[in-house]
Amino acid sequence: MRLSSYVKIFPCRDNPGRLLLFSTRSFAKLLVPKALLAAIEDGSLTDKEQETLDRNGFLVHDSDEERQEMMAAIEEANRRSSRAVLTVVMNLDCNLACTYCYEGAQRGSHYMSSATGELLVRFAGGEYLARGKDLLVDYYGGEPLLSADRIRDISGTLKSLAEREGRRYEFTLVTNGTLLTRAAVSQLVPVGLISARITLDGPRENHDRYRPFLSGTGSFDVIIRNMSEVSDLIRIGIGGNYTRESYRSFPQLLDTLSANGLTPDRISHVLFSPVSKTLGTHLSPEFSEGCVSDDEPWLLEASVFLREEILRRGFFTPRVAPTICMIELRDNLVVNYDGVLYKCPAFIGCRGLEAGHLESGCNDYGTSHNLDVWKKDQCRDCAYLPLCFGGCRFLRLLRTGSIDDVECRRSYFDAVLEEFILQDIKYLRKKRL
Ligand code: SF4
Ligand code: SF4
Repeated sequence: MRLSSYVKIFPCRDNPGRLLLFSTRSFAKLLVPKALLAAIEDGSLTDKEQETLDRNGFLVHDSDEERQEMMAAIEEANRRSSRAVLTVVMNLDCNLACTYCYEGAQRGSHYMSSATGELLVRFAGGEYLARGKDLLVDYYGGEPLLSADRIRDISGTLKSLAEREGRRYEFTLVTNGTLLTRAAVSQLVPVGLISARITLDGPRENHDRYRPFLSGTGSFDVIIRNMSEVSDLIRIGIGGNYTRESYRSFPQLLDTLSANGLTPDRISHVLFSPVSKTLGTHLSPEFSEGCVSDDEPWLLEASVFLREEILRRGFFTPRVAPTICMIELRDNLVVNYDGVLYKCPAFIGCRGLEAGHLESGCNDYGTSHNLDVWKKDQCRDCAYLPLCFGGCRFLRLLRTGSIDDVECRRSYFDAVLEEFILQDIKYLRKKRL
């Protein structure tokens, strides 16, 4: 047997005679003696060593066969998926005036109408529930809770439809948190609300500077009060957008959460993301969680620093895992407030990147979105392939003007992966997302 092509090998920091093996395919981690690599090469592994390495996904019979399996990995994930995920933009309106708001010229009093809501129900029912899929909807905006009544109507109907088909309907909110009162949540839980992702841009002073109400008043205290009131009803995840100047103050936010009773057992996850000049005008930082990356040295340092601060306080942050661009995931779609479909929230309003309409269904977006762009020699032989799958198409579009190639994350992984794995070993052994 041979060593898998999708293994990263790191020297062990406190034991020079050992190596840390990490499988980017199975996510297994093993500390092994250095001599083990030579034993794999010359076929002199003991039965026990071979069994352990094999069971954890470090060995393969045939490297070509393994690469072919990787080439089919997303197709297999699509085939096995039992759940469709829709990101639904309910409006482009907001009660905050965030300084970096991504909606720019699109922002305004644009709301999903009841007719479009009905089209959404018909589309989701026919396209997913009738095909035997569970349905998860992530309501998004603007501020989705400005459309709370419409969300309740749509969800009530979708939940009944799902139950009639023997399927499950649930939904989540990406919200600024200012309208997430106990009364609002109590009305939405019965129709499927399970969690909300709330944005806090650091401690009060920083947050209030970046995310004030339209009146100019700070929104931090209102959000913390709402979170405290609803954290026993739904799961609360926290996002936050940092800059080069602000990221070192974010640990204070974590301490403020705990001081207000929002302890790690009441928060499902914390994940901070950078606001960058280019991204800030195009992609909602709320959505960028887990999708994008950047190689600027300060960003690499900030992501390792903030992950450590989150984990060492006992909060959870996602472990090292694949981030597959949703363009590749067949049953993931974005629905804009006007019924136009997209494959990524960052593409909303981009001419030529529409993926269809609720009325007519999906169009053939394979060529315009360069589907399967990651199935090239450069990626096939890259140990990061199971984590990366070609990177973010939107970043590629921003940098080059078209989705003409992969957005390579090799230097990003080279810089941060070892640190992230060591953090996962130290803090996340017993927890799962
Ligand atoms: S293009 Fe893909 S990876 Fe990039 S933000 Fe959109 S869904 Fe995420
Ligand atoms: S885009 Fe770069 S990092 Fe990602 S799989 Fe391809 S070669 Fe590897």
